[in-house]
Amino acid sequence: GELGPEIRGRVIAHYGRQVDVEAVDGEMQGQQMRCYLRANLEPLVTGDDVIWRPGPDEGVVVANMPRSSVLKRPTPHGELKAVAANIDLIIITIAPEPTPYANLIDRYLVAAELSDIRPILLLNKTDLISDSNRSALESLLQRYEQIGYQVMRASTKADHGLDLLIDSLKGHISVFVGQSGVGKSSLINKLLPGVDLRVGALSEGTRKGTHTTTTARLFHFPSGGDLIDSPGIREFALWHLSPDELLEGFAEFRPFLGHCRFRDCRHDREPGCALRKALEEGAISQPRMLSYQQILNSLDEEAQLRLETE
Ligand code: GDP
Ligand code: ZN
Repeated sequence: GELGPEIRGRVIAHYGRQVDVEAVDGEMQGQQMRCYLRANLEPLVTGDDVIWRPGPDEGVVVANMPRSSVLKRPTPHGELKAVAANIDLIIITIAPEPTPYANLIDRYLVAAELSDIRPILLLNKTDLISDSNRSALESLLQRYEQIGYQVMRASTKADHGLDLLIDSLKGHISVFVGQSGVGKSSLINKLLPGVDLRVGALSEGTRKGTHTTTTARLFHFPSGGDLIDSPGIREFALWHLSPDELLEGFAEFRPFLGHCRFRDCRHDREPGCALRKALEEGAISQPRMLSYQQILNSLDEEAQLRLETE
């Protein structure tokens, strides 16, 4: 069949050498079509901006545009593979229950920093704040506010704080990440009424035989902004990190890097450590330093495990 003119589009799902593309402007704005990629193109991922030509049944992507960010995950062979592009907001979701691990929040923050994507820390389930957990939660949030991260509060159940969240999502491509049970699915379902996300198809391992595609998909929020979601993306911070990347990902450490007496300083007990000094002077918080050390040690263990299994 005849192909139409070249128009601008965005990849909303990808399946190997095929993608679903949506026209982003012009007469066809909002229309979606399965497309093949012209032979010379690099593989595309959800979120990619493209030039494409619609056809009677299928279209053809003829060019891909530069990416502003890219989320990558390691393959079993240790190579990094892109899974989503152009995300510019990461909503790190925590809740009073399950109790937040500072360590995990920091790993998400490191991943956001390294991908050049702005993070927001969202405390969900505020209806579960009580006298027994209030002060711990407040000091945790305050710690991140002091570093300069934006903090928000919401409750899907009590319908609280959602307007502000919806507002923050406008004009961005977002992902929601966080520990299982913090309410990501509930939030997303609330923000995308009537959309079948097939959430939990993977995490609920009991539903064998259900459609367990892990491809990231792009969705439009009714009030503006887009979401990219897949079960894998919600855990992206747990993907591999090197020790140097880890250090770079602690934003408030950066002014002190390169100022230690020893070039190979592990910022642990070495004399003349600039990070330790910043800690003593209060420019770095104790929990963040502890978290850095814990994650660094876990990287050592992961590397050791890889060596042993190779
Ligand atoms: P996910 O694993 O992060 O996707 O979390 P889910 O959306 O599956 O939610 C986990 C549990 O928390 C479910 O039982 C939800 O009903 C509950 N939940 C979600 N949001 C809230 C909330 O704002 N308040 C309370 N009390 N429970 C919530
Ligand atoms: Zn040091």
